[in-house]
Amino acid sequence: MESFEDEWAAAPEAVRRVLVLAHEALTAGGLAVGSVLTGADGSVLAEGRNRAYDDGPGRGPLHGTPLAHAEMNALGSARTGCDMSALTLWSTQEPCSMCAAAAAFTGVGTVRYLAPDPWALASGNDGSSGVPHTGMQTWLVAANVMFLRSVLVKAHGPDEPTTLTRCRELEPETTALHDALPAGLPTETAVETWLAAHWAALREAAALRDRRLAR
Ligand SMILES: [Zn+2]
Repeated sequence: MESFEDEWAAAPEAVRRVLVLAHEALTAGGLAVGSVLTGADGSVLAEGRNRAYDDGPGRGPLHGTPLAHAEMNALGSARTGCDMSALTLWSTQEPCSMCAAAAAFTGVGTVRYLAPDPWALASGNDGSSGVPHTGMQTWLVAANVMFLRSVLVKAHGPDEPTTLTRCRELEPETTALHDALPAGLPTETAVETWLAAHWAALREAAALRDRRLAR
């Protein structure tokens, strides 16, 4: 088995950074989504994480508003007139309709994401456009597990969040792993520590997912 350290070092900078940002949003009690804009050489030029649920004084006018999606915060760093066509917008999750429209409107050349949106999956999108390299499936599972946990932690009331229920059907391996993890927010303050602690389980869930999709 490839070690976490080797896989992490081999991952594109954008993949590492969006996972760091998603984990940061998760441990801050927000929705675990991270996003970056990269140049043609793959270097990270701008970044953002979901800040829709951040309280108090924040960064920029979107902070604490329903518009403060990770992708909007990353796109908001690009100045008017910047040639976006050579840039790639990365996200841990498949961008929602607002963020996809913002990326299209600003002329972003490429959009990539690690994990498909469960609602988009329900409409027939298999998310394959967001998985550009073999070996990315583990990052997909990691991104989705963090996202599910952030949705669950934020939920109020006795009913399970619809997103989690939907994922039980559409992403059973990821949801099973999510359920097996310690309750609440992760205690690991760095995403690398969290990933390393659950690496074997993340790899196994990714392998099971691959097997299901290959059938
Ligand atoms: Zn969005």
